[in-house]
Amino acid sequence: MKASEDMNDDRYRQLKLADHRYVWHPFTQMRTWLADDPIIIERGEGNYLIDVRGNRYLDGVASLWCNVHGHRKRQLDQALRAQIDRIAHSTLLGLANCPSIELAGRLIEVAPAGLSRVFYSDSGAEAVEVALRMAAQYWYLAGQPRRKLFLTLTESYHGDTLGSVSLGYSERFHRHISSLLFPTLKVDPPHIYRYFKGVSADRADELALRSARESIDRHRDELAALVIEPLMQGAAGMWAHSVEFLRAICEAARAAGALVIFDEVATGFGRTGKFFASEHADISPDLLCLGKGITGGYLPLAATLSTEEIFDAFLGEPQDFRAFYYGHTYTGNPLAAAVAIANLQVFEEEHVIERIQPLIEHLRAGLVERFERHPHVADIRQWGMMAGIELVEDRSRRLPYSCSKMVGARAARAARRAGVLIRPLGDVIVFMPPLSITDSEINLLLDAALNGINEVTGR
Ligand SMILES: *Cc1c(COP(=O)(O)O)cnc(C)c1O
Repeated sequence: MKASEDMNDDRYRQLKLADHRYVWHPFTQMRTWLADDPIIIERGEGNYLIDVRGNRYLDGVASLWCNVHGHRKRQLDQALRAQIDRIAHSTLLGLANCPSIELAGRLIEVAPAGLSRVFYSDSGAEAVEVALRMAAQYWYLAGQPRRKLFLTLTESYHGDTLGSVSLGYSERFHRHISSLLFPTLKVDPPHIYRYFKGVSADRADELALRSARESIDRHRDELAALVIEPLMQGAAGMWAHSVEFLRAICEAARAAGALVIFDEVATGFGRTGKFFASEHADISPDLLCLGKGITGGYLPLAATLSTEEIFDAFLGEPQDFRAFYYGHTYTGNPLAAAVAIANLQVFEEEHVIERIQPLIEHLRAGLVERFERHPHVADIRQWGMMAGIELVEDRSRRLPYSCSKMVGARAARAARRAGVLIRPLGDVIVFMPPLSITDSEINLLLDAALNGINEVTGR
C-alpha cells in the first residue's frame, strides 16, 4: 500500500513538472497556474473523474459542458472500438465516408423541421464561423450583398475564432485583439440583474424587445442574420431569457428579412430538458450550430445545419465559383461521427429526455432550498440541466464582489475538498452536470457548492 502511494506521488510530481514546463493552458493566467498544484486526470468512471493519485471527483460541469452520458459509457466506447478497426480518418474533400453519412441523416431526423443539410467541422467556434460565412455568402449569392450585418445579444459567446469572437465580443477578454474584429449590432438581453435593473422580468422583456426592434428597424436592409444562444447565454454567466423573448426577437429579425441562426453548441443534446432548446419555443432556425454534446463529450466534432433554401443558393457550375469554400482537414472525422451516432442511439434507447425530467425538478428544488434565501446569492437561473447562481457581497443592494476577491473561484476551489469539480464564470457558480447524474449526486454537487460558498463568504 505504502509503496504504491509513493509511486503515485512520484508519478504525480513528474507529470506536474512536465505540465508546468511545457503546457500552456487555455483561458488561464499561467502565473497563477504555475504557483498551484494541478489536478491531473487519468481516468473517468460514469459521472466521476479520477486523478493520478486516485482521488475521485464528481464532474459538476460535464467536462466543460460537453459530457452527456457520463465517462466510459459502454455503447460509446464500443462504437469507437468498432470504428477504429475500420478506419480512424479519411477526408470529406472529394470523398465520402460511412459514419459521416449515417450521422448526417440521423441529425436531420432529430433537428427542427426545415433543416435538411449538414456541414461538419471540429469545434463549436467553427460551427458558428461556418454559419456566419454561409449567411454572408448566401446574401451575396442572392443578390443582396448589403446584408452583412449580424445582430447578437450583448456578452453572447460563440467561440474563439476571430469570426465568432466578432459576434460574441467581450471587453474583458478581447480588447487586445479588437482591431482584428468586424463590427456587429448588439442589443442588451432582458437580464434584470445587469441591464434592466429594478424592473420585473416581463417589463425587461418588453424593454429589451423595444430596443431590439429599434436596432433592427434602423438596419433593416443591412441585416444578414440574428445569431443567438436560444434561452440561455451560457458563457456570459448563465443568463436565461424567456421563450416569449426568443420568439419575439426571432420574429422581428425575420420581419426585416434577416436569417435566424441558433447557436445550440451548449444548449443542444438535452441540456435544457428538450433535445434542442429551439423546441421549447417551437422555432426552426435557418442555420443551427451544434458542438459540445454532439459526440456525448468524447471527441471534437461540430455541425452546422442549414435549410434547403440556403443550400440551393450555392448551386451552380464549377466556373461560377458559388461553392462554399470552407473546410478543415479533419472535417467529418469517422471516429467522431461513429461515437456521435452512438450518442444519438443512447438518447433513444435510454429515453434520456424523459428520464431527466424528474432530475431537472430535483435540481430546481435543490437550488431553491439551498440558495433562495442565501444572503450572498442574488439570482438563481436554470434551464433544464444548465444552472447558475450569482454570488454578491450584498444581496439587498445587489452589490457585486470586487473581482480581485475571486469569490467564485475560491468557492469552487473549496468544493474540491468535498470531491466535486465545478468551474465558475466570474462570481456565477455554474451547475452543468452530465445528464446521467443521479438525485444523490445532485445533492452532493449542491451541498459542496453551498459549503464552499459559505466558507469563502464567511457565512
Ligand atoms: C462552447 C461554446 C462555443 C464554442 O465551442 P468550442 O467547441 O469551444 O469552440 C460556441 N457557442 C456556445 C454557445 C458555446 O457554449
